[in-house]
Amino acid sequence: MSFYSDLCAVLGADNIRTDESLKNHTTFQTGGNCDYFLMPENAEALRTSVRILQENQIPYFVLGRGSNILVSDKGFRGAVISLKQHFRNIEIYGTHMICGAGVMMHEAAKAAARAGLSGFEFASGIPGTIGGGLRMNAGAYGPEFKDIVTEAVLLLKDGNVRTFPNEELKFTYRSSIVKELEAVVLSVSFLLEPGDPEGIFKKITELGVRRKDRQPLEYGSAGSTFKRPPGKYAGAVIEQAGLKGYRYKNAGVSEKHANFVINYGGATSEEIYHVIRHVQEVVKEKDGLDLEPEVLFIGEF
Ligand SMILES: Cc1cc2nc3c(=O)[nH]c(=O)nc-3n(C[C@H](O)[C@H](O)[C@H](O)COP(=O)(O)OP(=O)(O)OC[C@H]3O[C@@H](n4cnc5c(N)ncnc54)[C@H](O)[C@@H]3O)c2cc1C
Repeated sequence: MSFYSDLCAVLGADNIRTDESLKNHTTFQTGGNCDYFLMPENAEALRTSVRILQENQIPYFVLGRGSNILVSDKGFRGAVISLKQHFRNIEIYGTHMICGAGVMMHEAAKAAARAGLSGFEFASGIPGTIGGGLRMNAGAYGPEFKDIVTEAVLLLKDGNVRTFPNEELKFTYRSSIVKELEAVVLSVSFLLEPGDPEGIFKKITELGVRRKDRQPLEYGSAGSTFKRPPGKYAGAVIEQAGLKGYRYKNAGVSEKHANFVINYGGATSEEIYHVIRHVQEVVKEKDGLDLEPEVLFIGEF
């Protein structure tokens, strides 16, 4: 396993774990182990690690906070690259904020508010990282990443690092060019507007209360399980199909918000997957509608 010693040499032994459980790295709080869990300290270590993985044909994926993924109970055969530990820089110049991919969105929102910058409030309650947010074009209450991002620095599969301006990031509903290129987001720049810190913090608090009132935040989930079907709300469609409160073992459709499939405690990914498939089947049968998951599936199902 010379590639493993190569990885250790690049990352440092403290930044590589083997047979790591992904349960603690996902908001569903489920999933098996991955073979290697890598936490590169900088872009160069990341780039070299990716090259070593590619040369040895080891599958890999980049993990943010794991708030939009369902990892198989069998885990992931390959390497998980986590940027949450080290890519945590936040820099502010005038109305520009630049965040490392591993910064949590609530941290970025607070930094912007402290600096008297408005525009990031919508993302304050999205429990993911800046890298995951860019990949997903995360959004809430109207605005999405595409509305405030000026550019992003991506590590491409061929090892090149390139800055993509907003118009080249191909933002669509819950997706961006990151998916197509299988790139790694290193950092993202945002253009915000001057505002009053007190008012910005007030808005963050109000949005947080609204979330708490409407979403089952006390349970493990990945937020909205399904994308909005054209002209409709997935939650309303699921509720009309009589599935609100549907339960399978320790997983189910939330009573509070029908587009949240939740872990009632001790659920497996298989149980969550069963609920997702059941919802799709029933909605298809009753409505003729194909609900497309927003949640991404990692590993074998
Ligand atoms: C309670 C709750 C509420 C939520 N509310 C919202 C909401 O209001 N709006 C919304 O849009 N989403 C919401 N989500 C979903 C989720 O938080 C977002 O999709 C978020 O952007 C995912 O970020 P993450 O860091 O957790 O990404 P992960 O779940 O770790 O990964 C998601 C995808 O992004 C990729 N990825 C992550 N980091 C990088 C990187 N640095 N480079 C390249 N690819 C990367 C992964 O490979 C994966 O394909 C919610 C989730 C929960 C649990």
